[in-house]
Amino acid sequence: MQNFDKILLAVDFSDSSMNACEYALALATKFGSKLIIVHVINEPVDLRGFYVPHISFDRLEQEIEEGARKMMDKFVANSLGGFANFETLILSGIPYEEILKKSEEEHADLIVLGTHGRTGIDHLLFGSTAERVVRTAKCPVLTVRMS
Ligand code: AMP
Repeated sequence: MQNFDKILLAVDFSDSSMNACEYALALATKFGSKLIIVHVINEPVDLRGFYVPHISFDRLEQEIEEGARKMMDKFVANSLGGFANFETLILSGIPYEEILKKSEEEHADLIVLGTHGRTGIDHLLFGSTAERVVRTAKCPVLTVRMS
């Protein structure tokens, strides 16, 4: 069987992704894997240099990144217990694209994510990020539904 040396966990800080984290953590502990925890800031591409002058947009971007970093630090402090073999990444772009790109760059053996996220619509089987990752990923994907 394939080793799970690297597990990429995608988090949007929703309850669903926190729930997925418990599974990623259990697997990483069992298989001695490194956890790569990724959050993607949804890049507002159309905003850049169009509605907002560059200087204030740059500042806004910086503040968004700092906010995301703080949320990630809080997430890690609350969710990982004593688990130390992890790395966190804050990326910008379209979430499913960045998750897939990073999973390939890192040669991740598994991607773990919630079936739904902050924007998830409950009656759908998968949210749009989850669906696109499942359909396109080159490695196995574990999607976790909140019970
Ligand atoms: P969604 O498909 O957007 O409903 O979200 C499903 C799952 O995809 C979430 O529970 C997260 O695990 C992951 N996800 C969604 N958005 C992001 C994001 N911006 N950054 C990282 N992971 C995300």
